Amino acid sequence: MTTFSAPKGTYDLTPPESETFLAVREAISAPLRRAGYGYIETPGFEHVELFSRGVGESTDIVTKEMYTLTTKGGTELALRPEGTASVLRAALQRNLHRGALPVKLWYSGSYYRYERPQAGRYRHFSQVGAEAMGTEDPALDAELVLLAVDAYRALGLREVRLLLNSLGDQECRPKYRSALQEFLRGLDLDEDTRRRIEINPLRVLDDKREAVQRQLADAPMMRDHLCEACKSYHEQVRDLLTAAGAEFEDDPRLVRGLDYYTRTTFEFVHDGLGSQSAVGGGGRYDGLSEMIGGPPLPSVGWALGVDRTVLALRAEGIAPEAPARAEVFAVPLGEEARRTLFGVVTELRRAGIAADFAYGGKGMKNAMKSANRSGARFAVIAGERDLEQRTVQLKDLESGGQTEVELDAVVETVRRRLG
Ligand code: ATP
Ligand code: MG
Repeated sequence: MTTFSAPKGTYDLTPPESETFLAVREAISAPLRRAGYGYIETPGFEHVELFSRGVGESTDIVTKEMYTLTTKGGTELALRPEGTASVLRAALQRNLHRGALPVKLWYSGSYYRYERPQAGRYRHFSQVGAEAMGTEDPALDAELVLLAVDAYRALGLREVRLLLNSLGDQECRPKYRSALQEFLRGLDLDEDTRRRIEINPLRVLDDKREAVQRQLADAPMMRDHLCEACKSYHEQVRDLLTAAGAEFEDDPRLVRGLDYYTRTTFEFVHDGLGSQSAVGGGGRYDGLSEMIGGPPLPSVGWALGVDRTVLALRAEGIAPEAPARAEVFAVPLGEEARRTLFGVVTELRRAGIAADFAYGGKGMKNAMKSANRSGARFAVIAGERDLEQRTVQLKDLESGGQTEVELDAVVETVRRRLG
C-alpha cells in the first residue's frame, strides 16, 4: 500500500504556518467589514459558460488554466478560477442590484487554475476579494484601493507597491485599440502573439518577454488617448488616493485586456517574490454584467492572493502574532483525577481560558513534558490525595512555584493569576 501525497501544484496548510493564513485572511477582511462590505460565499464550481464569458475567451485562464468537468447528467462545469464572475452572477440571481447601490460584497476562498507550478504559483490557491457593484464614482474606486492598502499596512508589509492605470471606456478605448493594433502588426512577433493582436491587443503590452518589451518602447499608450470623461475620472481617483496618503506609481502598461474592464486598473506588487510578484489586483469592470446577461452595472473590485501575501510576509521577516496557545495544562494522576481534571479543563475553556489535557494516560514524567512543551503558563496537577481534599496543585511553569488551590477555586485563581 503506497501512501498518498497532495496533487501537483497544491500544498497543505498545517500548524503553525496555517495560522499565518488565517491572520492574512483576517487582516484583509477586517477593513472591508468596517467599510460596509457584506460577506458572500458562492459554490466552488459554476457553469463553464459563466467563466468563458465572464473571464473572457481570449484569456489564459479560460483557454489553458480552467479545470472543467462534465457531470453524469451531462452538465459542463468548471472549478472556479476566480471570484468576480461568480459574485456578480450570485448578486444578479438574488436581485441584490435592485436594492440599495452600490452592492458591496467581500469573499474568501479557494480558486483553481491549471498552471505550471512554481514558487508563488499554485493550482489551488486562496484569495480574499471585494466587489462594489452598481455605482460609477471615483470615490468607490479609491475606497477599494485604500482598503487593500490598509490591509497590507495592518499586516506590517512595507514593500508593497501600488501600480495604477486607466484603460479608458467604450468612448475612447476602441480608437486606442485600433491604433495599438496598427502599431503591433508592424512588429516582429511570433504566431501566438500575432493572433493575440487581433483578439486582445492590450494583453500584448503585458508580455513579460524581453524581446517583446524591447519593441514596445514606442507603442501608443492608453494614457495619451483617454477621452475627457475618463481623464477627469482618473484624476479624481488619483487625487483621492493622494489625499489619503496612499503612494502609487502610474504604470501606463498595466492592463487587464478584456473589453469589459474599464477605467481604473491597479495591481499590488511585492519585489521580494521573484517573478510571481503580483500580490493582488483589480479594477473597474463596467461591461461585465452585460457580458453575462445582466443589466448595465458599473462595478469595481479586487482580489488579493493570500498565498503570495504570506510569502511577502516571510520575505519581509514578519511573523504575525502567534495564536493563543494553552494557558493551562492539566496533568491527572490516576483514573479519578482524569475525570475530575477533564471537567476542570472544560470549565476553564468555557470561562475563555485556553486549556489542554494530558491525553493518553501518560505517566507523570511524560505528562509534565507535554505540559512544558505546550507553552502553557500553568499546570494543574491532581492525584488521589489532592482529590480527597478537594484540592489541586497549581504549578507556575515559568517560575516553578507550586501552590495548593481548592478545586472549586481553580478557574478564579487561574484567571486572577493570568491577570
Ligand atoms: P499572475 O499574473 O501572477 O498570473 P493574475 O493576473 O493571473 O496573476 P489575478 O487573476 O488578478 O492574477 O488574481 C489576483 C491575485 O491572486 C494575484 O495577484 C495573485 O496574488 C493571486 N494568484 C493568481 N493566480 C495564482 C496562482 N496560480 N497561485 C497563487 N496565487 C495566485
Ligand atoms: Mg495568471
